[in-house]
Amino acid sequence: MKVFSCQNCNTATFFENRSCTTCGFQLGFDPGSLDILALTPAGANLKAVDSEQQFRLCANAQMYDSCNWLIPAESADTLCMSCDLTRTLPLMSDPANVERVRRLEDAKRRMMFSLIALQLPIEGLKDKPDGGLCFDFKLDSEEPFIKGKQAMVLTGHNHGAITINALEADPDEIERRKANMGEHYRSLLGHFRHEVGHYYWDVLIWGNSGRLKQCRELFGDERLDYGKALKKHYSTPIQNWQQSFISSYASSHPWEDWAESWAHYMHIIDTLATAGQFKLSVLSQITGKHVDVSAKSANFAEIHARWVTLSTALNSMNRAMGVIDPYPFAMPPSAIAKLEFIHTVIGEAGKKPQSKSQSQSQQQQQQQQGQWQENQAYY
Ligand SMILES: [Zn+2]
Ligand SMILES: [Zn+2]
Ligand SMILES: [Zn+2]
Repeated sequence: MKVFSCQNCNTATFFENRSCTTCGFQLGFDPGSLDILALTPAGANLKAVDSEQQFRLCANAQMYDSCNWLIPAESADTLCMSCDLTRTLPLMSDPANVERVRRLEDAKRRMMFSLIALQLPIEGLKDKPDGGLCFDFKLDSEEPFIKGKQAMVLTGHNHGAITINALEADPDEIERRKANMGEHYRSLLGHFRHEVGHYYWDVLIWGNSGRLKQCRELFGDERLDYGKALKKHYSTPIQNWQQSFISSYASSHPWEDWAESWAHYMHIIDTLATAGQFKLSVLSQITGKHVDVSAKSANFAEIHARWVTLSTALNSMNRAMGVIDPYPFAMPPSAIAKLEFIHTVIGEAGKKPQSKSQSQSQQQQQQQQGQWQENQAYY
């Protein structure tokens, strides 16, 4: 994540902030420039303090006190590009659900930031009614009864639709599930990064015969019966998964291996980029040399070497504070090769012009193209 500062007083601000803690100016995130902007009222709109650009806040900012993303003033949209992708919400008359949705949308916006910065194609249902990206946040308690039994909400992806069980936005519930599953890492951001990985398999791999062949060579044949594979994973998990996979769940089916690898790629790139923003330099225990950590490199071997150094330091610092490792994983060589493939696929996808809704003028598209090239410099 970028490190932001208030353009009015230079105080550091977080991605989630909605006002400056020092000068009190209103802040909003502009997905077009990937920047937090300090804003002043301009009639019915908001104006950036250091430019003539005008915006409006996403309607969810007022409705649920839950979003700080901006919409260009001339746009007819009422929701920002991130909230606009959410198709289903639990009953928002319940204050507990408002809190859950805030946490879910916070995590989703962090994931969205990476998708934009990586210049990945993002097509919602408006652009692509069949298979466009959308999010359903659901609760077991609101599901229908089938044969006298209430249906369970399963977190997962199906043809562009990402379902998240909203109960996991409760901190005690996600911890309970983590313990039940014997996992070392579980987070809402991790769920979004994993599920969106499934979506991008459909977008970037399926239908591209060259990539599909390479993907099958690395991850295995995804035509393997998914239901049976998952059943087998939960009844008799592979014992020595550490030799070939990034996580136990990755060993359940080639699709899950892909989605787990994709999520790890996003964890690694975003954490390295954050370290790069702070100009961190870390001593490598392997080479004895200082390594400048950032995500900027065309070469995945280089990115991985930096990550080993940084994640070792991160885990050590957490242990010094008596808290658990933020990255409790070791990557075997075959998992590194899988992430390298994902790095190449994302790099190629990012170079292509993005498909945008037809309502955009050519000038807007050209401006965005320039912006994408700038964003590319970030990751
Ligand atoms: Zn300020
Ligand atoms: Zn929004
Ligand atoms: Zn999955």
